[in-house]
Order: sequence, then C-alpha cells, then structure tokens
Amino acid sequence: MRKANLSLVPVAALALLTGCGNSPSKFPAFTQEFIETTLALSPTGATASGYHKHKGLGLDGHLDDFSAAGIEKNRATWNDLKSKLAKFDRDKLDAESKADAELIDSQIQLALLEDQEIQSWRHNPTVYVETVGNGLFVPYSVEYAPVETRWRQIISRLNEVPRLLGEAELQLVDSPTLWKNVAIEENDGTIGMLEQTFPAQVPAALRSEYDPAAKNAISAMRAFDNWLKTSLKDTGAESWRLGKEKYAKKFALVMGTDMKPEEALAKAELALTETRKEMFNLAIPMHHEMYPKHIDPVDVNLIIGETFRKINEKHPTPEAYMDEARKALNETRGYLKSHPEQLVKDPPRDNLQVIETPVFMRGSYALGGFNPAPPMEPQLGAFYWVTPIPKEWPQERIDSKLRENNIYGLRVLTIHEAIPGHYIQAEYASTIEPLSRRMLRAVYGSGVYVEGWAVYATAEMIKAGYMDNSPELQLQNLKWELRAIANTILDIKYHTMGLTDDDAMALMMGKTFQEKEEATAKVQRAKLGSCQLPTYFTGYSEWKRLRSLAEQKPGFKAGAFNERALREGALPMRTLGVLLGLQ
Ligand SMILES: [Zn+2]
Repeated sequence: MRKANLSLVPVAALALLTGCGNSPSKFPAFTQEFIETTLALSPTGATASGYHKHKGLGLDGHLDDFSAAGIEKNRATWNDLKSKLAKFDRDKLDAESKADAELIDSQIQLALLEDQEIQSWRHNPTVYVETVGNGLFVPYSVEYAPVETRWRQIISRLNEVPRLLGEAELQLVDSPTLWKNVAIEENDGTIGMLEQTFPAQVPAALRSEYDPAAKNAISAMRAFDNWLKTSLKDTGAESWRLGKEKYAKKFALVMGTDMKPEEALAKAELALTETRKEMFNLAIPMHHEMYPKHIDPVDVNLIIGETFRKINEKHPTPEAYMDEARKALNETRGYLKSHPEQLVKDPPRDNLQVIETPVFMRGSYALGGFNPAPPMEPQLGAFYWVTPIPKEWPQERIDSKLRENNIYGLRVLTIHEAIPGHYIQAEYASTIEPLSRRMLRAVYGSGVYVEGWAVYATAEMIKAGYMDNSPELQLQNLKWELRAIANTILDIKYHTMGLTDDDAMALMMGKTFQEKEEATAKVQRAKLGSCQLPTYFTGYSEWKRLRSLAEQKPGFKAGAFNERALREGALPMRTLGVLLGLQ
C-alpha cells in the first residue's frame, strides 16, 4: 500500500510541471472531499463537528481507530490529499478558494509533521483518554438527534472503549510522567461522569444496556490507569519538551506567519515591559485613592500588586461563582446589542449556555472555555464552560482562585470566551457558505485568528466603555494581556530553551501578577502541548495590524471592519489580510 502511494508523488509533480492540473472548477469538490475524509478518520471529532455520516455509514456510535491499520489509513489519507492539492494551480483559483487552499495546505503539513515527527499517539496517553471523554460527552450534551438515539450511540461507544484502550496499550511506547498523571486524572473525570452523572440521565428503557456497557468501559479504564502506572516506560520529568527543530516547524505552520520563534520571543519581551508600564500609569491614581496614607511607592510591582490586592477583594463566594458568570454573560450581551457600530452587530441566534467545565477537560481548562455549536448544525447548543471551584480544596487554594477570578476577572473571562469573544466569532463563522467552506474554516480554523479575536474583542469592549470605563476592569484586562504575553514567552522557552519551573513561576508571579493557583495550572498546561499558548499574543498583534491598515482607508467603520473579518471565518491572518484587500 505505501509503496503504491509513494509512486504517485512524482506523477503529481509532473502534472504540475506540465500544466495538466485539475481545473479550478473542481476545487469546491476537493474541499468537500478533504473535510469529509479527514473528519471520518475521527468519528468523535466528526460528531463534535456535526458530521454524522460518512458514505452512508453512521459515525456517532464509534470511537476513533488507533489500530496499526487505522494509523496507516490516516497517513495514507493525508498523503493522498497532499498529492490531490498539488494538482491545482492556486493562481487560477478565485480569491476565496485560494484562501481555502492555503488553509488546507497548512493542515496537511501539520498532520504530516504530527505523523512523521511528533507522533503524539506513541507518547501521549491523554490523546486516548480525551478521545473517550469527548466521544461520550458530546452525544450527551449536544442535542443533534433525539435523546434515545444519542444514548444508544453512547452505549455503542462505551462498548468500544476496551477496544480503543487496548489499541492505546499497543501504540504507546513511552511517556513523560506528567502526561501519564494527567491522563489518569482525566480518566477519573470520565469515570465520575459514567458513575455519577450518566445513570441519573439515561432513559429508563436503556438502563439495562447502559449499566453493563458502562461497567465494562470503567474496568477497561481502570486497567488502563494501572497499565500507565506500572507498565508504560516513563521518560521522566523533562521529556515533554518539543525541542528547537520540531518546535520551529510547528510554530511556522500554527502561527501562519514568517516570524521565527526567537523573533516572537523578542517581541513578547518588549511588550511585557510596555504593558507593565501602561499598568503602572493606570494604577497610580487608583493606588493613591485606595491607600491614602501610603506614600506612593515607585516600585512597579509594589504599586500594581497593592492595587490588585484591593481589586481582588471584590469576588463572588464559591457558591455564587457560576451565577456571577451568568450575570456577566447577560451584561456583555446587552452591551454588544447597544454598541453595534463600535463592536459588531449582535447575531440573531441565542443558543449559548453556561455550564461547568466537564471534569475530564479540567486539566487543560483551569479557568473556563468555549465549546462551539457544531459548524454544520449551528442551531444546536454552544457552551461557555466555567470551571467551578471544588469545595474539597484547601481554603488557601480556594481563596487564591477567587482572587484571580474576582468580578472583573470573571467579566474578562466572559467577554473572551463568550460575548463578543469566541461565541460571537463562532456565530459569524457559522454563516459561511457553501457548507464545505464553513466546515473547513471551522474545523481547521486558525487558532491565531480565533484567540486573537477574543483578546482584541476584549480590548474593544473596554474601549467602547463597558462597565462605565472602570479602571479596575482596564487594569484586570491589561493583566490578561500580560498573561497572553507571558504565555508566548513560556511556550517558546519551555519547549526550546530548557526553561525551569522556578523561572516560569518567577515570570508569572513576579512580573505578570498571577496568583499561585493560576501560575501552577499554566506550568502544567505549557507541558501538555505546544504552540497553542503563543496564539493569543500573536493573534492580538495580527488583529491590531489589520485593523490599523483598515483604518487608513477612507470611510473606515470599526463595526463594519469587524463584521467583514468575522464573516470570512478563521483563516490564517495573512490570508485574511489579502481577502480584505489590506495587503
Ligand atoms: Zn480563548
């Protein structure tokens, strides 16, 4: 099979050279093939995207295939798509199709980099655990089919859990200690969901099928935990680092810019100094009022730190935490509705729910997150995840988390994750036609665009006067911007420069005013993945760059610019700039 595949490559190259490529009119069909075949490789991902059937076969009752044949099929599919893409002359495509081709190209390169060099499925057990968790949670929480149908699919997926975890044991060769520990924690979350949440919800008629399926799945999960603890080779405490060479390749593809990691690092370090200066200037009059008896110190950390000490006191109780998030959501939606020209028109649909972050995802979502409606079925529920504060935590840890998520912090979180951040972006992206283009730009959308929009939209909300121009909110948001900057520095230094945890904590707590609780969670998150943490700062810089180019054009209006950019969906920023006629 692989030999036959390899021999196709020169043929594709020849076709390109001699100009016998595919006609541009075939490109939409290719986009559709790309999205459908790649989604079908992961039934759990397909369900989450709203793609339920592939070539007549249902996907929602199955888990992903990690057998040797499954991995080989994955590889062959991406290689096949690569050679098919190469047959199109991109200069002959219309502008929107050309943008799609660029997005597809970067995704193919990323998939092949993963397949050939990074190989998470051989080293990272959370890949399997999260596949199981998501595979069960999505049919439970997203109402894409009648409730009984979805429970049948959950049961069918439960029956496949032992198969999938058996494949995991065959594929995994070794793992850093941390990835094992997180996989075990996340597995515990899924087990909790199966033992506590699901039994109360499963329709009575299916209970007799659910119980044995869940029992089998749980014992397979426990056996897998045990195997991770006792049998999987441990590569130690440091081996999660991606390394300079792989990091540079992945960074270029994920960021979609020509900027090298070292340049991004230098830019972030400069922004760190500038943002701290801005915070200092904002804090001085606040500090003066808060501490009338103090002689204002000149120390930047002291003055900003003391100002935050007062701001942090305004926090909800752990019991009122979720309600405070709901209240913040109502406020931000109201504000968006009344400020369409400065921000963007509020989209008509209202399908956003605030729920607790699922336990098995809390390893990566310490604060909260956003889970969009499936792009093919945008009318279904979108979820704003808020990670609750466990009652069993020690008081000190609870207090630290509450200080971090004071009422202003919860507002910034809500703006970022929901309105006008990720939820509004996803709503606009769900209006893209044709469907294959919408799917492509949602499923394989640029994280730089998505996270950049959320950070940029927060700054725009504040510029538009949300919360009566509250300086507390402004300072809190600058702290979030500082966090985005620190994320960039941490990711690059952790994965390419051997950064230590002590230095990481010193950066976060000593220079960016983060609470210990958050900084500790970030240390873990930085080691679980790579090239995601820099998307916030890179994306924000890119949104500001395109915005300032747009402002130079006659008749510029912020709301219209935002809407046009949102209607294109999550393209790489340089591609977006071309489509908007800005570069
Ligand atoms: Zn985000």
